[in-house]
Amino acid sequence: MKQTLLLLLVVFTTHSFSQQRCGTTERTEHLLQNNKDFTIAKQKVNTETQKWIEKNPNFSSKTIITIPVVVHVVYKTTVQNISVNQIMSQFDVLNRDFRKLNIDTINTPSVWKQIAADCEIEFCLATTDPNGNSTTGITRTQTSTTSFGMQGDDMKSTSDGGVDGWPSDDYLNIWICNLDNLLGYSTVPTSWNDPDDGVVIGYQYFGDMGVVQYPYNKGRTATHEIGHWLNLEHVWGTGWSGCGDDYVNDTPTQEYENYGCPSFPEAPNSCNTNNPNGDMFMNYMDYTNDACMNMFTLGQKTRM
Ligand code: ZN
Ligand code: CA
Repeated sequence: MKQTLLLLLVVFTTHSFSQQRCGTTERTEHLLQNNKDFTIAKQKVNTETQKWIEKNPNFSSKTIITIPVVVHVVYKTTVQNISVNQIMSQFDVLNRDFRKLNIDTINTPSVWKQIAADCEIEFCLATTDPNGNSTTGITRTQTSTTSFGMQGDDMKSTSDGGVDGWPSDDYLNIWICNLDNLLGYSTVPTSWNDPDDGVVIGYQYFGDMGVVQYPYNKGRTATHEIGHWLNLEHVWGTGWSGCGDDYVNDTPTQEYENYGCPSFPEAPNSCNTNNPNGDMFMNYMDYTNDACMNMFTLGQKTRM
């Protein structure tokens, strides 16, 4: 009994003190429980999205959508004040991953190669600021805050030690800061106007060079979080119950998130479905190491 308790403690401790891959579910659940407007608005967007998908089953935009981004670097130490080169390396990763130009697409298991998508979405640094002046698309703010958490979204507010975002109708705001035990998180699309709209990434997980830290050193945290920002759920579904629905037909139902670098097939038929290929652990919306993720599906593209 004592041994079991000790083992449980070790497992619990390891889990709670290691870096959490993504905080989006936690943030979303918190809002669902505490904000009725958000709950209604999220359901509304989800229903509308699903209706739209039914009407456009084989969607191809035929046009590349380019999203202007402003990167807000909020730093206390010089290490946290990441270089322009590190920031640019993240854009290279995004523009490969969302266009299926990533070379590790060759690692996609052959059973899923046909549904790996060129999402036809690209990202660029904003060239015009909200006042109409030219800009690098990067802001830099020194803070006295040692580390930020999700609570309060302080990095997104000038009065709380961070920096205010730019209008979310015109820009994707990405804040880079020292995040406490967390790689990143995002807001999710709803018709409720989230004052904190945007993505937050720890400075050690943005881009694929500079001060990035293994095994999250290939820029896939931003790929994953922007997936959330563009309406994607985790591949195991919403919440943490497992075998849930991600509202995407071509991603297999899976029971748990995957860590590290599993080998194919991982957890076949884990949800009692006819799924011999198991989890799509190399999907950007799982929790595997950056080097082991390499695809969005056509269904995810349609949803985005
Ligand atoms: Zn996530
Ligand atoms: Ca699915």
